[in-house]
Amino acid sequence: MNTINRRKFVKESMKITTAAAIGSSLLMNSEYASAAPAGLLFAQVPLPYGYNALEPHIDSMTMEIHYTKHHMTYIKNVNDAITAEKINFATEKEFFANASKLSMKARNNGGGSWNHNFFWQVMKPAGGTPSGKLTEAINGTFGSLDKFKEQFSQAAIGRFGSGWAWLVSDGGKLKIGSTPNQDNPMMDVSELKGTPLLCLDVWEHAYYLKYQNKRADYIAAWWNVVSWDEVAKRMI
Ligand code: MN
Repeated sequence: MNTINRRKFVKESMKITTAAAIGSSLLMNSEYASAAPAGLLFAQVPLPYGYNALEPHIDSMTMEIHYTKHHMTYIKNVNDAITAEKINFATEKEFFANASKLSMKARNNGGGSWNHNFFWQVMKPAGGTPSGKLTEAINGTFGSLDKFKEQFSQAAIGRFGSGWAWLVSDGGKLKIGSTPNQDNPMMDVSELKGTPLLCLDVWEHAYYLKYQNKRADYIAAWWNVVSWDEVAKRMI
C-alpha cells in the first residue's frame, strides 16, 4: 500500500468507524423506541417444576439442558430477529398467522420459543388420566384413550427428523398431527391447523441422553407425565 492509498485507507476507515458508532447508538435508541413498547417480544415461562420432577421418565440433565440451553437460545434469537428486522406484531397469534412472511430465523426461533413454553406446561409429575369433557371428546373422536394414545404416538414416531406431535382443536374438532422443525399449528404455513391442546417435542435433544435412538421408548414413558388438566383447560 503506497502512502496516498494508505492515507485514503485510514481516512475511509475512520469514516466507517464513526458511522458505525453513530449507527449503533441510533440502533440502541430505536430498539427502545420501537421494539420494546410497541411490538411483541417472547419471554421464557418459568419451569412449573424442578429439573428432576419428571424423573424417571424425563431425566434431570435433559430437562436442565433443554430449558437453559435450547429453549433459552430460541428466546434470545427470536427477540434478536424481531429487533433487527423490526417485526411488529401485537400478539403471538398474529406473529404465527404471518409465519409465511417471516425470515427463517424469526419463524424457527419464534416457534421454538412458543412450543417449549407450551410443552413445559402440559407436563407435570404423575400426570394422571383425563376426565370429564376431555374424556368424552377423546372417546368420541378416537374411540378410546388407548386408541388416542396410539394414534398420537404414531404421529410422533412417524415425524421424520426433528419436529413436534400435536393434539389440536380445529373449530371444536380434535385432530392429531405433526409439524417439522419448530413449526406449530398456529402458523399459516402449517398443514396441521388449530388451537394446540397438547404437544410433544420429538427433537433428539429432548430424549437422546436417556433414550438414545429409541424415540418410541421416550414417547411411551412421556404419557406418565402428561398434565391432562392443562389439556382440558385449553379445550374450547
Ligand atoms: Mn426441544
